[in-house]
Amino acid sequence: AATDAPRVWFDGKLVAIDSPQAPLTTHAMHYGSGVFEGIRSYATADGGAAVFRLPEHMERMRKGAELLGIDFDVARASEAVLETLRANRHADAYIRPLAWLGSGTIGLDVAPLTQHYMVATMATQVHLAGKAARLGVSGWRRNPATSLPPLKLCGGYVNSVLAKREAKQRGFDEALFVDAEGFVVECTGANVFMVRNGSITAASHPDALDGITRATLVELTGAHSRPVSLEELRQADEVFVCGTAAEVAPIASLDDAVFGDNPLTREFQALYARIVRGAEPRHARWLTVV
Ligand code: PMP
Repeated sequence: AATDAPRVWFDGKLVAIDSPQAPLTTHAMHYGSGVFEGIRSYATADGGAAVFRLPEHMERMRKGAELLGIDFDVARASEAVLETLRANRHADAYIRPLAWLGSGTIGLDVAPLTQHYMVATMATQVHLAGKAARLGVSGWRRNPATSLPPLKLCGGYVNSVLAKREAKQRGFDEALFVDAEGFVVECTGANVFMVRNGSITAASHPDALDGITRATLVELTGAHSRPVSLEELRQADEVFVCGTAAEVAPIASLDDAVFGDNPLTREFQALYARIVRGAEPRHARWLTVV
């Protein structure tokens, strides 16, 4: 049985989820000066649990921390993830580590600030292939990489929040960012693939997050990674998006263009589901046992 109250890792200790307090002058709260990850663990066939591609997630987080001047020890941060999962007896879970700048100055120079690290884990529902999503082209542009590198920096996600809000208000499930030249960037929290005449393409773009699920699927499917125009995407036989939370998600429509029943996407979805649950021994290197 799970321990009574869920616990969270906060600055070196596991504590009750409602006990940590952050000062209202927390720099990250005012300026978005933090970096996070979105990771998942899964119950495995042997009765245990494993985290999918933990080192890759922690390395991406380290890059973001370095950019912000936050000290980040990958080994200790990874161990905190595992300890939090164990404390909460979580197997199928979404894992949210966050490193951020605390109090010390209201100015922008980060040197005087305290630094903090937390890990929260949340049980996830194991759901079978959900309904395909309706995608709408966003009126918003993605943060250009020349202004904000595509890492999981907290402040950068205001851009995703705006696009998600707009998409929902317009009756779509998710937003597709397209650049000024008409090239596909990504969604608010997922990367984009298409299938045309049996060939698989992963949309590449300098402003898009270098997704770990995307890299996984490129390796598994042999997809060609290259720039994709919105026009090309509209004419695809299948479109899917992928990410740690989304996994492999079929797209039903893009604005007014409707796709079919996404047979190849469903295959990749099933393969990914087997791999993350440890049912494909040849990909066991991607799993960190909890
Ligand atoms: N793009 C954005 C903007 C994201 O937030 C995410 C989720 N981390 C992704 C793509 C997919 O990345 P990953 O597969 O590493 O979760």
